[in-house]
Amino acid sequence: MTVRVAVDAPQHSGLNGPLDYASEQALASGTLVRVPLGKRELLGVVWPGEAEVAPGVALRPVTAVFDSLAPLGADWCRLLDFAAGYYQRSVGELASAVLPPQLRELSPEQLVARLRKLDRKARPGAAPAEPVRPELAADQAVAVERIAAQMQAAGPKPQLLFGVTGSGKTEVYLRAAEAALAQGRQVLVLVPEINLTPQLEARFTERFAAALPEPLAIVSLHSALTPAQRLQNWLAAHLGRARLVLGTRLAVFASLPELGLIVVDEEHDPSYKQQDGARYSARDLAVWRAHERRIPVVLGSATPSLESWQHAESGRYERLTLGTRIGGGALPRVKLFDMKSLPATPGVTTALTAPLLAALKERLDRGEQSLVFLNRRGYAPVLHCGECQWKSDCPHCSAWRVFHKRDRTLRCHHCGFTERVPRACPNCGNHDIAPIGRGTERLEEQLAEALPGARVLRIDADSTRRKGELEAQLQAVHDGEVDILVGTQMITKGHDFRRIRFVAAVNPDGALFSSDFRAPERLFALLMQAGGRAGRDAAGDTPAEMWVQTWHRDHALYQALARHDYERFARDQLAERRTASLPPFSHLALLRAEARTAQAAQAFLEAAASLAQGEGVLVYPPVPHAVARVADVERMQMLVEASQRARLQAFLRGWVPQLIALKREHKAVLRWAVDVDPLSI
Ligand code: ADP
Ligand code: ZN
Ligand code: ZN
Repeated sequence: MTVRVAVDAPQHSGLNGPLDYASEQALASGTLVRVPLGKRELLGVVWPGEAEVAPGVALRPVTAVFDSLAPLGADWCRLLDFAAGYYQRSVGELASAVLPPQLRELSPEQLVARLRKLDRKARPGAAPAEPVRPELAADQAVAVERIAAQMQAAGPKPQLLFGVTGSGKTEVYLRAAEAALAQGRQVLVLVPEINLTPQLEARFTERFAAALPEPLAIVSLHSALTPAQRLQNWLAAHLGRARLVLGTRLAVFASLPELGLIVVDEEHDPSYKQQDGARYSARDLAVWRAHERRIPVVLGSATPSLESWQHAESGRYERLTLGTRIGGGALPRVKLFDMKSLPATPGVTTALTAPLLAALKERLDRGEQSLVFLNRRGYAPVLHCGECQWKSDCPHCSAWRVFHKRDRTLRCHHCGFTERVPRACPNCGNHDIAPIGRGTERLEEQLAEALPGARVLRIDADSTRRKGELEAQLQAVHDGEVDILVGTQMITKGHDFRRIRFVAAVNPDGALFSSDFRAPERLFALLMQAGGRAGRDAAGDTPAEMWVQTWHRDHALYQALARHDYERFARDQLAERRTASLPPFSHLALLRAEARTAQAAQAFLEAAASLAQGEGVLVYPPVPHAVARVADVERMQMLVEASQRARLQAFLRGWVPQLIALKREHKAVLRWAVDVDPLSI
């Protein structure tokens, strides 16, 4: 008997679809198996559809069958088929990437042992108390009702839950989940950051522990779990033991046979887009999956992606608005501080302006917490020699190496190349080399100097490298052991800080003039989110404030920010995008190529362009990536634009297989990839 098996065949082999194998027994599609491929033996999934084998071809046999495990559902296979087709990868590669890694190493017997282990186990501790459910605010109640209505609908519409930070979106998710759980359905909740899963898990567990007393009824799925935990939680979802699954983007591929509701929190967040391999958008796949299963999907945000907002405007999505903060806490007053108003002091950089220090001091004296936000880690972005103009560039990248003072290193944030800081200029021997600009480490130091006695804490990727550090640092903030919190965007997201009343963004202008058309959208979301950390607790008697230092205070983005007017911002941006034919009014794909020389990468892209055929599709000339060279590899890219999604998809289906063949002629090309709906161009 012949079976089709999705298996991770390398792309250059040209073996893109499921492969055919011989099997002694009939195997249901979705069954996990192990099959030989070349000299290796790999995990595979028996795939739906008829095998079409030419007579007389000898097929290799399936080597093992995981028959103790229920097959993956037909809906799961359809999701994978869709995602693989849409993002131009092989279904076997995608399946292998999204199944728990430990499955690859286990034999069917070992898996049986794992499955038995799932039946151990009781939740420790006393029986959970009945949760207290707050009475819903009026607009929350409407939102919950509308979601419940979609649960009854034959073909539910996606819903965009648009609500400022602190307006009670999470409470709406909890009620919607409650309704789906009560109907015996599973619920999937996606969050953008691993760091936010424990917090959300705690909130969902508190609410549902009494209703879902079974161990493993509430599980999380993300890449920071141990391989054993990830397999256990994945199995629990697949077997229907887990009723509520909370996870990051990879959880969109969880096997959930009784799925009844998907929630995507902070749906605008760039982390939902996978940046290598199959470059999928978990948000977009969540919408597809919900549509295919005819179940509701709720996309929540205070600053929706312009794609989702446009869908709400056009009526494709239903918009649910939460207009006010719970408990009447006002949004922070936004002060746009005009950097041009300061007396110019040559040679002095002024991130910590005197008025900002005064404002921080005032908060400090009142015993209030403040947050200072700078999206650049390290001490200074570059070291500089005033004599010969040497700068700490990276020998392997077209980028500066960042000065990290604490361990006296120069580190490249692109390739990781790290050296001790030189005592003198490596070019001319001058001893007077100095940092230019400012990162969070320097800001922390300068704040501590300028405000003696203030307890300053920095949270960024450097301060939280070791396990448990982030949790401990966040706890210190919650416990009031910190006066001023300094950090990157890591601290602006989602955290429910109750004591912060003042938030400052000291140098946000850069994104205004980026070549990336999504940069303003990202900046606006980031600043709204940062501002959202202030005044979450209405109890304080001083107004919460957000302080934005800018050289461009009249810029439309800041003017909209000052009024907390996302709708105005979205209207302006969408008008610009429409004029420029940018998403959501066009559809994009990027072909990227990497080689030791820019010429080799460019030659490949130009040859690819000459193969392009498709009506309504525009292929732009190749250009270097914004950081053209990383780790001695030159990166070039070429944009493909189509007015309609279907046209772009049809074009890619014809084009990408030819690129696989083309690559064989371009041996100097190290890597190439197609990024469909790229986030940044
Ligand atoms: P968001 O997710 O929109 O930022 P949350 O759901 O976290 O908002 O709500 C902010 C705060 O208000 C939380 O502490 C939450 O427990 C509380 N909250 C939400 N809804 C209600 C309600 N209806 N009554 C009282 N408190 C509420
Ligand atoms: Zn020098
Ligand atoms: Zn480098």
